[in-house]
Amino acid sequence: MRVSAHGKYLLQLTRLGMFNCYLVREEDGFTLVDTNLGGSATSILAAAERAGAAIVRILLTHAHSDHVGSLDALHAALPAAEVLIGAREARLLAGDMSLDADEPQTGPRGGFPRVATQPTQTLHPGDHVGSLQAIAAPGHTPGQMAFFDPRDGTLVAGDALVTKGGMTVAGVLKWSFPFPALATWHKPTALRTARALRALEPARLAVGHGPVIEHPLAALDAAIRAAERRRAFAE
Ligand SMILES: [Zn+2]
Repeated sequence: MRVSAHGKYLLQLTRLGMFNCYLVREEDGFTLVDTNLGGSATSILAAAERAGAAIVRILLTHAHSDHVGSLDALHAALPAAEVLIGAREARLLAGDMSLDADEPQTGPRGGFPRVATQPTQTLHPGDHVGSLQAIAAPGHTPGQMAFFDPRDGTLVAGDALVTKGGMTVAGVLKWSFPFPALATWHKPTALRTARALRALEPARLAVGHGPVIEHPLAALDAAIRAAERRRAFAE
């Protein structure tokens, strides 16, 4: 697993060159954002140890298999660590694929694995997890959340945006790396989320797939414009 530091608080952990999770440094230890593919627990724990702190909470952006794949193993290794996920996404984590009446009536896409671990707390937009603020980021999945660190303007956006091979809004298909687009639930919602995340004016963007981007606003604007040009993203 490749580990890279971005600013004072963020470490990016990358498997197979394309699957990211993050350690966010807090005064009481690390918040792990997402758990990567199955089989990643040992290397995630080793990365935290090398960086000099324990993981005290596990925070999930969404319930796709490449983000919750090592949740059960990490929960077993860290039984005292809190496990947090958005309240809407918690239903998907529990295997409930039902939709609310006010949601687009199309089924969630992509792989939602069976997970035994139950969250210790579910989140609503505006909640705080350590230094991080929970931001609603639906579209890729019905209940995805992004997490904004006001200490330095870092935004951890899950799969709301993809930076591998250039920045795109979730759902814009790139043949060089099609998986996040193919697993995206509802494109107009994903575009609305991209605009809302842009409005936070992040100084640094960290996503599930692709490199961390410093000063991402120009690339983000271009990605939003590119999505706006596609009919599938129209409301
Ligand atoms: Zn995903």
